[in-house]
Amino acid sequence: MNTSKPRADSAAQNNQDNNNEHNRLARKAGSILRIHHLNCGTMCPACQKLINGYGSWKKPAKLVCHCLLLDTSVGLILVDCGFGSRDLQNPQGRLGSTFLKLARPTLDKTETALYQIQALGYDPQDVKHLIPTHLDLDHAGGLSDFPAASVHVLEAELLQIVQPDMRDLLRFRTVQFEHQPQWIVHGQTQTGTQSQSQSAKRWFGFDAIAPIAELANDLLLIPLIGHTKGHVGVAVRQDKKWLLHCGDAYFHHSQVTAQPRMPAGLRFFENLVKTYRKPRLQSLARLQQLAVQHADEVSLFCAHDPHELMRYTSH
Ligand SMILES: [Zn+2]
Repeated sequence: MNTSKPRADSAAQNNQDNNNEHNRLARKAGSILRIHHLNCGTMCPACQKLINGYGSWKKPAKLVCHCLLLDTSVGLILVDCGFGSRDLQNPQGRLGSTFLKLARPTLDKTETALYQIQALGYDPQDVKHLIPTHLDLDHAGGLSDFPAASVHVLEAELLQIVQPDMRDLLRFRTVQFEHQPQWIVHGQTQTGTQSQSQSAKRWFGFDAIAPIAELANDLLLIPLIGHTKGHVGVAVRQDKKWLLHCGDAYFHHSQVTAQPRMPAGLRFFENLVKTYRKPRLQSLARLQQLAVQHADEVSLFCAHDPHELMRYTSH
């Protein structure tokens, strides 16, 4: 959890006033005011060595659900949602016994986005937009904690839920969408669901879509197809630097370095859960190139690597 929230005691009053003035001007201009990095779900599958790439063969591994809470001029925005309070109330029904046995989520109430947003002093009703990188159960569980928020997805991602094929039926947990999310569909639309005129852009050579007009210069969806049919990365600009939440486009921090060294168990899992092999490998190669060539301008992280989460939270 980010600990840099402004203090409200009297000694910090001047800073608070300056912050308020800064925030007021920024809200007017349309921008990202503050970024919080949250872990909205810890998973402890067997064998640390095979999954994390270090430590013991016998100890459990640790994976996180790295989410972003953005405090912006258009309200709060949650990028990826991890597990939600309803998943914790009914883990068998919402997540399924196979997932529970293999991933072994800790299902800690204090890790839900809902709990953490309140602990940070925000009102959950101020969460106006949800941007899941994709709709797998460990990314979409928290959607139902914010039923009034707009949920931004590519059409190809939503079709896996509303017009599922056999594989989609086995993969996605339709129970997590029973609250009927307020979908905002980006990209080509063939369904009758709500669509929004999109703002197509280019970003470091990638196709990009600005999902929220007021934040068109600061928040972009970057299609990174392969893990699922409509998987996206989410690029967020604060000051002059970009963050890119890569979701499950990769799983281990070494994969976006000049010398990738993927743990064998994680490699097996990554391959097992992909939808399209070739686009996934192309997305990964382009991310690796981006990370190496533009390290000064873009900071990449994926959803599940605890090592990457620590980079943003251990200060
Ligand atoms: Zn995932």
